[in-house]
Amino acid sequence: MSIIDTEAIRKDFPILERKVNNRQLIYLDNTATTQTPRCVVDSIVSSYYNTKANVHRGVHTLSQEATLLQEHTRERVRAFLNARSSDEIIFTRGTTESINLVASSMGQLFKDGDEVILTVMEHHSNIVPWQLLQNRVDLKLRVVPVLSDGALDMDTFRSLFNERTRMVSVCHVSNVLGTVNPVAEIIAESHRHGVPVLIDGAQAIAHTTVDVTSLDADFYVFSSHKMYGPSGIGVLYGKREWLDMMPPYQGGGEMIESVSFEKTTFAPPPFKFEAGTPDFIDIPALHKAIDYICGIGVENIATHEDGLLHYATERMNEIPGMRIFGTAPGKSAIISFLVGDIHHYDLGMLLDKLGVAVRTGHHCAQPLMHALGVEGTVRASFAMYNTAKEVDIFIDALKRSVAMLQ
Ligand code: PMP
Repeated sequence: MSIIDTEAIRKDFPILERKVNNRQLIYLDNTATTQTPRCVVDSIVSSYYNTKANVHRGVHTLSQEATLLQEHTRERVRAFLNARSSDEIIFTRGTTESINLVASSMGQLFKDGDEVILTVMEHHSNIVPWQLLQNRVDLKLRVVPVLSDGALDMDTFRSLFNERTRMVSVCHVSNVLGTVNPVAEIIAESHRHGVPVLIDGAQAIAHTTVDVTSLDADFYVFSSHKMYGPSGIGVLYGKREWLDMMPPYQGGGEMIESVSFEKTTFAPPPFKFEAGTPDFIDIPALHKAIDYICGIGVENIATHEDGLLHYATERMNEIPGMRIFGTAPGKSAIISFLVGDIHHYDLGMLLDKLGVAVRTGHHCAQPLMHALGVEGTVRASFAMYNTAKEVDIFIDALKRSVAMLQ
């Protein structure tokens, strides 16, 4: 018996009823994106049918309604993260854009010889934006390795600080290993050195309670599509003192106070970082996604997923030659694995033929793959709507696929 009513939840996700290759879909690619409940889709439709108008610039009713929906969502995100002010909530296109915004803008304050600390388990979107800065300044990237179970090597982390360290940027949860990093400890240690911290929360936000105030995070970023929300939008939480100091990321409408050819002044945060028309259709739908998650309870979701993680891990270990990458205590419900010398791609293809959707490849984490000594893995990841019965079907499909490929 699960702590949450998966049967009722599944009814909210019409896609879970579809067939793939004549079999019932078993969707285990939730790390890449979660599916979308009806209430979120209804919100998108309602915005198109009822309130579509550009925000912030109209006196007419539709524009005012659209603006209210957007700004209520900003306040909803603030409450969800327990941020101090909704001015600290910036809407972006997603985790990737949020990190690019911080790297690009904070990067303008960096000087030759400065250093940024990352970890080897970062997604490419938390590596490449920092590398792009190297075209302009002589920036050194210091990389924290992982231990054999996939936990972060905290001793090395602590040893990497020096007077040139300007930023720490780490994922909350690894999208490959499932490792949950000790972000409170990472932030406290960084602050002892006077260094701000960006937390990439893409894989954490729908699976654990995030309180940016008690964490004392300087930046916290995530994507809506990985938290049952619409695709194409995301959030950057930034502490007001940094946002005031940071130069704008893009120029355009919405982000200015006044413009002349002689001198342009910028609007205060968050608008300073929201150039152009925002995604006023999808933003209110994110509000619905947050309500949906909170209605079930993030901690209940976490407990349910944890149960699936343990059950699936136990059953997967029945298979000879099974290698699971990432076994750190308290890990999230993400299982990356290989079986014997079977290619990850072949396994993924066969599983798909049996209706099971998993991800294969390097998962946008090539440096981590390199550290693990593999080219890629198969990855199964769980969400609130997955069930133990689905795990059983997955294990049967996995056993059949392995037997065919060995
Ligand atoms: N960081 C992590 C840890 C991720 O898992 C992902 C998506 N796989 C991203 C960043 C990038 O997210 P997006 O593509 O939505 O910007």
